[in-house]
Amino acid sequence: MSTNDARSIEEVRDGDDRTVGDYLAVEDGSFACAKCGHDLGPVDGNYKEHLALRERDVEDLGDLWIDPSILLDEDIVFREFLCPGCATRLATESCRRDDPIVNGLRLDPETL
Ligand SMILES: [Zn+2]
Repeated sequence: MSTNDARSIEEVRDGDDRTVGDYLAVEDGSFACAKCGHDLGPVDGNYKEHLALRERDVEDLGDLWIDPSILLDEDIVFREFLCPGCATRLATESCRRDDPIVNGLRLDPETL
């Protein structure tokens, strides 16, 4: 599927029972972008490692966000993980700047 074939979230949710997140799907033992089909690696790996990463300071997110350094001695950042095929944001996380990428979803390929 090319970027030009991108579907809306309503189309993704209504038509794909293999969707495991808003725009995250499972196809043939691998994660894939549910919107454009971009391969995001095996289901027992960390799909975020196959996404483009944009890291921003939390206070840059908008007026509703406060600078975490007011409350914490840690350097906290906001990470956005974007599909390399269509730039859809598939995941976010807030963490210390030096933290490894969180793997919040891992599936057993034997049960698929
Ligand atoms: Zn995509």
